[in-house]
Amino acid sequence: MRLKFWGVRGSIPTPGKHTVRYGGNTPCAELRLDDDELVILDAGTGIRNFGDHLINNGESVKAFLLITHPHWDHIQGFPFFKPAFISGNELTIVGTDREDKVLSAIIAEQMNRIYFPIQLQDLKARITFIPVKEEQEIPVYGATARIMFVNHPGFTVGYRLDYKGKSVVYISDNEPFDRAVAPSLSNFEDIVKQKFLASGDDPNQRVFDFCKDADLLIHDATYTPEEYIDRVGWGHSHYLFTLRVAAEANVKRLYLFHHDQNHSDDKVDDILKKCKKEVKSRGYRFECEAAIENSEIVI
Ligand SMILES: [Zn+2]
Repeated sequence: MRLKFWGVRGSIPTPGKHTVRYGGNTPCAELRLDDDELVILDAGTGIRNFGDHLINNGESVKAFLLITHPHWDHIQGFPFFKPAFISGNELTIVGTDREDKVLSAIIAEQMNRIYFPIQLQDLKARITFIPVKEEQEIPVYGATARIMFVNHPGFTVGYRLDYKGKSVVYISDNEPFDRAVAPSLSNFEDIVKQKFLASGDDPNQRVFDFCKDADLLIHDATYTPEEYIDRVGWGHSHYLFTLRVAAEANVKRLYLFHHDQNHSDDKVDDILKKCKKEVKSRGYRFECEAAIENSEIVI
């Protein structure tokens, strides 16, 4: 498998001279299986450049688009994904329904006439939706995708793809679950809280298990531990927790992801340096890197 990052920034695009090296687009990654079968992880603003790249290559597009959750930074690029406008292309969009709204409506509504000039039904590509549930497994070409609720406001999921003995886990947004804090967080879903509370002594065990032995883990590392103190309940990890997930799960490679909107390139460099030092001093065996827009990984 091969993976390319097209957007690595969390929450909001951050153009400007201080974010040029890591990139300012919000989450999107291109995962290629053998024979180039295409899986797209999230449709943040990075998907616009990716779509243009596909068009420039003259590639007809047949793809699975796995959406972690419909917060803006994960769907905002979709209306600008040019392959969706082209007849003959096929997109299968995977994500969760809400109790009060199905996935297709969730995606369509960001293109409501009030917010956008073109509606979902005007797109020429054949678009189908697969609403998924916690712990469900779905075939994605020859791979298997597994789904798990993570600790983030709304019904947010992580994806694990297993393919020919290799595995990739994508958890873009996830906060350490704390039993003492969780009851006070009214914007987190009760169903998700119950799943974590039932997970064992450490409620985060379900995340560790989900990532078990992955060849590649892409995980939220939005904050420093110092910043996190004032951002409990915002739905994101500090890097020490991210490292812990990788260590507990015995992954081979970790990519820090969803860089904070306020972090300059130099700040991300500094975080990566601290993480590498931490990995060494704790005797962790995985490789740790920070996701960079336009960089590629062979898995
Ligand atoms: Zn996000």
